Amino acid sequence: MPKDEIVNLAARRSLFYPTAEIYPGAPSGFFDFGPDGETIHRKVLGFWRNELVEREKFVEIFGRQILPEAVFRASGHLESFNDPIVQCGKCHSLFRADKLIEEQAGEHVPESADVKKIDSIIAKNKVTCKKCKGKLGAVRKFNMMMKVDIGATGDLPCYLRPETCQTIFLDFARVYKTMRRNLPLGIAQAGASFRNEISPRQSLLRGREFGQMEVEIFFNPKKIDEMENFGEVKDYRINLMLLKDGEVKPIRCEDAVKNSIVSGRLVAYYLARVQQLYAKYGVPVEKMRFRELDSEERAFYAKETWDFEVEIDLGWMELMACNYRTDYDLSGHAKVSGRDLSIVEDDGERFVPHIFELSAGIDRTFYVLLDLAYRKEKRGPDERVYLSLSPRIAPYLAAIFPLVKKDGLREKANEILSTIQDYELDAFYDEKGSIGKRYARVDEIGVPYAVTIDYDTKKDNTVTLRDRDSMGQKRVKIEELPELLWKLKMGKLSFDKL
Ligand code: ATP
Repeated sequence: MPKDEIVNLAARRSLFYPTAEIYPGAPSGFFDFGPDGETIHRKVLGFWRNELVEREKFVEIFGRQILPEAVFRASGHLESFNDPIVQCGKCHSLFRADKLIEEQAGEHVPESADVKKIDSIIAKNKVTCKKCKGKLGAVRKFNMMMKVDIGATGDLPCYLRPETCQTIFLDFARVYKTMRRNLPLGIAQAGASFRNEISPRQSLLRGREFGQMEVEIFFNPKKIDEMENFGEVKDYRINLMLLKDGEVKPIRCEDAVKNSIVSGRLVAYYLARVQQLYAKYGVPVEKMRFRELDSEERAFYAKETWDFEVEIDLGWMELMACNYRTDYDLSGHAKVSGRDLSIVEDDGERFVPHIFELSAGIDRTFYVLLDLAYRKEKRGPDERVYLSLSPRIAPYLAAIFPLVKKDGLREKANEILSTIQDYELDAFYDEKGSIGKRYARVDEIGVPYAVTIDYDTKKDNTVTLRDRDSMGQKRVKIEELPELLWKLKMGKLSFDKL
């Protein structure tokens, strides 16, 4: 279960909370983001867009959430997007069989295991109902897609997309042609995905509706080693956990390619970019790993899969699936739709592009970043709680506080707020309550800096700049404030060097 402290903080500050919570019968596995939560959420997404889409010269599309049944016939979801479920014969509770086995017997059930095999693991380990210890019935497969019938007669069977990538595959040929791009071409999409999870009891970590930010990189398999920017990462070490020994080792990208640990330079390059993105989000490098999946654990279409995982108190959490999907998707859609999805490159070669996918969960990333940032410190008789979030994803860069509302301090504070906003830096204004309480409130949602306007401000045009983590305070000139804040945000200056 997620940390109580995070769930309590989220509820206390309305960062996220259950959807339709005023209705007792509302289904679990759905969460709304409140005002400050939504700001963090937006920044997590925005930073991914800057780093993994725009900097890589990729393009982004926005597709709809409902897609016709034929799409999922071609993708294989109708047939194989199943979870094994098992029901208690006594109290009728339903469980995901693989998770129950893992909890009670510590045995890992591969995704590809059939129901008979899972039945036998249950019998061998004497796994029983988690609630009443009753005997479990036979395992069956449950399709996790949510069906929607479109049209007045409901005769157009459709599904809510269980992953954002399918639209990218459907749109590839159009985007490739009209955007005048060469391969490798990355097409990104961020948005909601829907899965009828059996027991979504893990807060944002396992929702029935959740955000995904995905990049599908289309490339010529013969040119997997032709990566223009590989030089930028060749000496960078990625934390790879190899199947052969189960140990995490920081391996140079160039060595990962040379020793055939990955299929080619393209794969090593993007794994490096993923690790660099999460380092910039504020995740310590030693808490990240790419876990190599074996053929039983990988999706059936994948030739190579690295699950990008981050360590939190709950254990290692998968945040992104990095899949080499081959030409499975384009060939599948070409076959079912009847459209030719092959392309011809400048040298005249015709082929169906291969795909390397970076499929990340937005909600999981959000939760994990909060979890890693959570700090609780004893301060004399009091306890101090703060989120040590990177300024890149903190809901605001600075909080602006007039010491009091009167004597022109409110006006001066608003003037400073507006100047900071003119520089497109995010600032938050609060004039209610004691300064100490105001600091505590912004610390709790992770605002890195606070600016206090007091009586001296009026005399010498200076303000107090306070640092969230150290609680240190420095006096700075108003005219220098926007540039200082920008430098602090970009990591070009540290607070103690100020
Ligand atoms: P899991 O094994 O944890 O169920 P998965 O392997 O099915 O996840 P993918 O289909 O590879 O997940 O999806 C890519 C990413 O989407 C995951 O790494 C995760 O971050 C996110 N994700 C998947 N399912 C959920 C969910 N139910 N709630 C929140 N995020 C999810």
